[in-house]
Amino acid sequence: MLQSFLQDTWVTPTVTPESAVAVRDAVTGETVCHVSSEGLDVAGAFAHARRVGGPALRDLTFPQRADLLDAVAVAVRARREELYVLSARAGATLTDARYDVDGGVRVLRDYAARARAELPDAPYLLEGPAERLARGEDFLGVHLVSPSPGLMLQVNAFNFPVWAPLEKLAQAVLAGMPSVVKPATPTAYLTEHLVRIVAEAGVLPPGALQMVVGSVRTALDLLHEQDVLSFTGSAATAATLRTHPDLVARSVRFNAEADSVNAIVLAPDVEPGSPLFEAFVREVVTEMTVKAGQKCTAIRRALVPREHELAALDAISAELAGVTIGNPGAEGVRMGPVVSLEQRDDVRRAARAIVESGRFVYGDPGKVRVVDADPERGAFLDTLLISADPDASAPHEVEPFGPAATVLAYRDTAHATDLVARGRGSLAASVVGDDLAWTTAFVREAAPWHGRLHLLDSTNLTQTTGHGSPLPALRHGGPGRAGGGSEMGGTRGVVDLMQRTALQASPRLLDSLRNGHARPPADSA
Ligand code: NAP
Repeated sequence: MLQSFLQDTWVTPTVTPESAVAVRDAVTGETVCHVSSEGLDVAGAFAHARRVGGPALRDLTFPQRADLLDAVAVAVRARREELYVLSARAGATLTDARYDVDGGVRVLRDYAARARAELPDAPYLLEGPAERLARGEDFLGVHLVSPSPGLMLQVNAFNFPVWAPLEKLAQAVLAGMPSVVKPATPTAYLTEHLVRIVAEAGVLPPGALQMVVGSVRTALDLLHEQDVLSFTGSAATAATLRTHPDLVARSVRFNAEADSVNAIVLAPDVEPGSPLFEAFVREVVTEMTVKAGQKCTAIRRALVPREHELAALDAISAELAGVTIGNPGAEGVRMGPVVSLEQRDDVRRAARAIVESGRFVYGDPGKVRVVDADPERGAFLDTLLISADPDASAPHEVEPFGPAATVLAYRDTAHATDLVARGRGSLAASVVGDDLAWTTAFVREAAPWHGRLHLLDSTNLTQTTGHGSPLPALRHGGPGRAGGGSEMGGTRGVVDLMQRTALQASPRLLDSLRNGHARPPADSA
């Protein structure tokens, strides 16, 4: 039975394993743990965050909060092997696990460095310059950005059980806000271990980090006006939470990172066999296979000019043929299973819906050859490359959250931009091409539909961080179906969690606020 970490104590839910949710090993189907939030004092945890964790964090300056992030990073890095081992049970290869674990550590470090460089040695921020609001010089306006006396409830998706809580924690700690993490059930044991590592390191103030394992459906009405609900998951769950009556009534801030049907576009100037064409193929295959395609940013639609459709299908299929699927710990395995049998069935259903207007070009949705595992007990899937009618609905609407992508042939530039927009808002899209005029025109059309555009040409293709990698310096989040939220983007992600208040005041009061945070010299105490 997984424990929760509430009020700085490990707590066991008050149920027997038989009446809790069993979480299975993605590779073997064995039970890993049981999950339930029955009997947990979530109200007490929220109160503890507000009364203990919040004041402790708000007392610190930005650089002091940055020190906490570095300390968490050191603690997690020191025990990352334990997280790699557990990640394999969720189907992750070592590369996948590093993406999640080391990626999370990198975000903490990046945010710590960024806060020291960009934020003041103060607990709050005065955004300047001051505006003169009257004829005289004694009535000025500035914006004060101060920590909210609330908590961040993280409701997270299953696919990044380490990166997601750390990425959100980094921004919350800097914003002076305590976190209560609610991991998704299928990988809750990984987040539980992460929280254990951080708690055992004893580097965060009491109440700064708590975790509720199991459902929080009945706890949402405990959120207050100063809290933030930071959600990552499917668009369907996002819609339920966004319209929760208590959240709406109290204007609880809600950030949604939801699913999206992300695209990559091969520009018309790229010839099959060229280095750019190969880069395009690499991006598609990487996105289909890293974490078995379970990334919110993964490419689901590959748009190619009609004349290059067959070449693209052939080249992607040839690459997929070299991907060994199986037990993530076995030699040579490049892709493990998806997280659960339910997830496998969801992907099959989604792929079959898309293929109604086309065909499977590579892979068999019904069976798969695997190394060192039982394909029936584990949640294994073949890589599935689909060719579909670009004007059908399903390729643009259905998100197969697994190792599947669809190649769609476009007629001309207008058709390509129209198809990309039919995703109704995405986290990320890539364009691969050297024709600056074409890509510039495309960017102008596509940008409003995306949170991030990754533009590859001959000059940068060896330096790219890849289509699917959200980076702390850049905004993560997309419009419309992608949830309409925003995270990271450097210190913007921190400021977004704080309250911006317009101040109209005299210069002397503003100076006092600017200097008020200066620590008294030791001998003046
Ligand atoms: P999900 O089913 O929507 O669940 C996400 C989280 O919401 C889980 O912790 C879940 O808890 C919780 N939840 C579900 N219904 C709830 C309710 N009524 N009230 C409160 N909490 C509720 O998504 P998932 O299957 O874990 O994750 C896969 C999806 O997430 C994909 O569609 C993917 O695209 C998306 N995703 C998006 C991003 C991004 O940054 N945009 C990142 C990762 C994943 P339980 O597990 O206890 O049900």
